[in-house]
Amino acid sequence: MKTNLKSMRWHIGVFGPTNAGKSSFINWLTQQPVAITDPTPGTTTDPVEKTMELLPLGPVVWYDTAGYNDNTMLGEERVKKTREILQRIDMAVLVLDGQTWGKQEKDWIHQFNKMKIPFLIVVNHSDYIPLNESIEKELNENQYPFLTISSIYSDDQDRTLIKNQLSKLLPDKIWVEKPLLQGIVHENDLVALVIPIDLSAPKGRIILPQQQVIREIIDQKGLSMVIVPEKIPLLSHYCNRKPDLLITDSQAFEEVFRLTPPDIPVTSFSILFAHQRGNFEQLLQGAFHLRKLKKGDKVLILEACSHHPTSDDIGRVKLPLWLKEYTGEEIECEVYSGHAMPSKLESYQLVIQCGSCMLNQREVQNRINEISNAGICVTNYGLAIAEMKSHLDRAIYPLGYSYTKDALSCAGRIP
Ligand code: SF4
Repeated sequence: MKTNLKSMRWHIGVFGPTNAGKSSFINWLTQQPVAITDPTPGTTTDPVEKTMELLPLGPVVWYDTAGYNDNTMLGEERVKKTREILQRIDMAVLVLDGQTWGKQEKDWIHQFNKMKIPFLIVVNHSDYIPLNESIEKELNENQYPFLTISSIYSDDQDRTLIKNQLSKLLPDKIWVEKPLLQGIVHENDLVALVIPIDLSAPKGRIILPQQQVIREIIDQKGLSMVIVPEKIPLLSHYCNRKPDLLITDSQAFEEVFRLTPPDIPVTSFSILFAHQRGNFEQLLQGAFHLRKLKKGDKVLILEACSHHPTSDDIGRVKLPLWLKEYTGEEIECEVYSGHAMPSKLESYQLVIQCGSCMLNQREVQNRINEISNAGICVTNYGLAIAEMKSHLDRAIYPLGYSYTKDALSCAGRIP
């Protein structure tokens, strides 16, 4: 995996009690002053994030977290933030000293196992705190992977050992191995990208998902052109061939569907991302659930990163308006931005989440699981908008999906 995108890096959380040497471990391993170290307990408060290249793992994001045994009022808040990190990490390092092994450590290991997060135990401070024999016996009996180091005296050989151990823990296959356009765009295909320049378009640049798609078209040796929606009718005038695919910002679906001849396949950036990250069929079922919404129902709109809302904001203005037009009813919408989700999901009838381009796969997956475990349907922006603009079938066709209108549960790949 080679990437500079944060969402596509390995995310590693470092956990442990206060003063176990979490920060000094990260600094020692990376040989950089990544984390703040101080003998005063509780120096790391909110989780500290640091991106870097760490061979042989490749690009990673470290999360240096607050000690989980902080019992102060402020400590409770810190521990909550530390726990939230579990949602987005691909692996965990539990840093302890050689005399610490109790209920809290076992609870954290239980939590890693429950969330299927591979972990490594690092017993730090071996230069002045020897590993207790009974703790060593218990780690061995449970077959927990552990290594003993001193972040002051351990050398390159130990660093290599730990990095190799971490790299063995990496999940075998993750979504980044599957390109966004695999099987969808082929060599010499002509792809038209439709990017509306409205109030919410950032000044002077195009956003990350759009950049990623352009890069992938180049990788596939295809041809791309970037246009605004109103230029779609000119495509036939300027090109001596029809585009093989048109990929649009989902917000422009209505205009794009209206202007694009029916023989040109159409999908959206956000639908491509949903397709790449798995759970596509589940999100598709969520889009069908829009048909069941009724007066007074509540819809949760999740945006994975915060931005300054504009007067035509997708989550706060357009989606609520389109939901009202589509259902003909008053639908209550609530918007949540960032990594957190409301604790009482049961009060919503549907969750619509953004393209989640800033989240890694594990966090997207955990979000979807948490919503589904609460018995709530979930879909994403692109699928929801395509459904509300009456062209869901057309928007999923380029990805090889179709469904019969009278049997919604039959959504599936076209054989
Ligand atoms: S994470 Fe979501 S809200 Fe943030 S830029 Fe990506 S799609 Fe938009």
